[in-house]
Amino acid sequence: MGPFKNPIVTCDKCNKDFKLKQSRLKTEIVAEGIERTYFKCPECKHKFIVMYKDEEVKENLVEMDSLKEVMQEMTNEKKDTKELKVICEKLYVKNLETNDKYKELYGR
Ligand SMILES: [Zn+2]
Repeated sequence: MGPFKNPIVTCDKCNKDFKLKQSRLKTEIVAEGIERTYFKCPECKHKFIVMYKDEEVKENLVEMDSLKEVMQEMTNEKKDTKELKVICEKLYVKNLETNDKYKELYGR
């Protein structure tokens, strides 16, 4: 997710604007090996699902983080990062697909 900068979120149920602080994010287990991150609107308590994670999604996130570090170093050294970028995008898409699948099963 990168650096977390407390974005302002507008609740689409009650139209309240609020800061999405890290502390507002909660995690719950939805099935064996599958967890989801969510937050609730402070006004109407509507639940917003941010992301589902299983072991593979977590591994992909860790790998994407380390790839990004390597790419940053390569960029500093003026090396071509195209191949790593492609790997990173594949992992990102894979995680999106997994999330779509879980959203179908457990709610979005
Ligand atoms: Zn609300």
